[in-house]
Amino acid sequence: MTDLTRLTAAEIAGLVAAGETSAVEVTQAHLDRIAAVDERVHAFLHVDTEGALAAARSVDERRAAGEDLGPLAGVPVAVKDVLTTKGVPTTVGSKILEGWRPPYDSTIVERLREAGTVMLGKTNMDEFAMGSSTEYSAYGPTRNPWDLDRIPGGSGGGSAAALAAYEAPLSIGSDTGGSIRQPGAVTGTVGAKPTYGGTSRYGLVAFSSSLDTPGPCARNVLDAALLHQAIGGHDPRDSTSIPAAVPDVVGAAKLGASGDLTGVKLGVVTEFTGEGAEPGVMAAFRESVEALAKLGAEIVEVSCPHFQYALPAYYLIAPSECSSNLARFDGVRFGLRVGDDGNRSLEEVMSLTREAGFGPEVKRRIMVGTYALSSGYYDAYYGQAQKVRTLITRDFTAAFERVDALISPTTPFVAFPIGSRTADPYQMYLADLFTIPTNLYGGPAISVPCGLSDGLPVGFQIMAPTMADDRMYRVAAALESTVGTFTPPAL
Ligand code: GLN
Repeated sequence: MTDLTRLTAAEIAGLVAAGETSAVEVTQAHLDRIAAVDERVHAFLHVDTEGALAAARSVDERRAAGEDLGPLAGVPVAVKDVLTTKGVPTTVGSKILEGWRPPYDSTIVERLREAGTVMLGKTNMDEFAMGSSTEYSAYGPTRNPWDLDRIPGGSGGGSAAALAAYEAPLSIGSDTGGSIRQPGAVTGTVGAKPTYGGTSRYGLVAFSSSLDTPGPCARNVLDAALLHQAIGGHDPRDSTSIPAAVPDVVGAAKLGASGDLTGVKLGVVTEFTGEGAEPGVMAAFRESVEALAKLGAEIVEVSCPHFQYALPAYYLIAPSECSSNLARFDGVRFGLRVGDDGNRSLEEVMSLTREAGFGPEVKRRIMVGTYALSSGYYDAYYGQAQKVRTLITRDFTAAFERVDALISPTTPFVAFPIGSRTADPYQMYLADLFTIPTNLYGGPAISVPCGLSDGLPVGFQIMAPTMADDRMYRVAAALESTVGTFTPPAL
């Protein structure tokens, strides 16, 4: 009998549509898989068994009634715990929201339901999406299915690990500085950050609002495109949503799968020399560049001189926005409240709640951000960082006058051992060296597995101009057609 957890999302949808399997059978197979492995992986913070089976039954009923099912009907999906789910716990990996059941669904979750997907549950993440390893989750780390002693990336490590452990064929992440792409890279899965504004932030618990972008994660490029298509597009409830349709990412993924890149011009970023990156990562990257050239792509070098300032600029802009966004967690409206015994002042209760509710990395960011925005320092820190952001955007604009897309490794290093980078925050921040420039610019980027280094997956990044998300899918699918997909050793 086919193991339903090993199928692609497209295959599952095809079988369900043809009546060869039911959505309930598919869902039960994944729930069983979660029950078998998640104690070791810890990809999930909450499994919504009842909700998933009810959603699956409804898909089966609609099929029986002859209704037209969407292209992902009956496909299970895991959702990063940063997105609100009506009546289903949403913690953002933080103690401060422990026990909170949102009264509404985020737009992404609403669209997932409209597409007929079945939400299995909520995945683990670094607290408030701040981190690169999922070790900063208040609920304990997620483990990488390739090696349970290593990190699955972050902040969306749960969403990536759930794919690699065959607990779900699709998942949703959010990318502020790399949190979809870097976990994808280190787990051998595909993760795409859409154009900022191309996917709705409504119901996404805010970290850094000018950067936060929800997006698709999958085990192959076509599945990621199908999910992207289902969740993307204009949303009037998000003020920065782009009033345009999703580019034809599915068509582009199919086109790319033919393996022909004739006429496509790709730029290797000169400044990403490999300094600070592992040799094995750079070797896999260079081999993939050659593979793309063999498929007909023209490869050139493109200088982006301001990319080297992206990391420091991000670590001023993101904490500044976070210090403002997280002010709403005060023990009054949402989640945790500490010390409210009738004798304490409001200020004392707020302070005790925050002290107990936020972890050390979140506190660090709030303090850095508050400092960077304070009068007297605003111009020197936040103001300067915004100027750097403009220069980085200009680098991208100039580059895209010469090439169709830029390419780089996704992350400088493969999955590192749990505990090896937590002592020094800077070592953790370096994981996003190659992913952050795109967030500051706002364009789309995808990470696709391209090889192994010491038996661990390496990710290849493709960055495209804003609203040209289809381009990156074409190149990613072409690369996948030559290097294949990557399966972790059995759990
Ligand atoms: N690792 C980066 C950070 O810690 C990016 C996080 C993200 O994309 N959410 O801020």
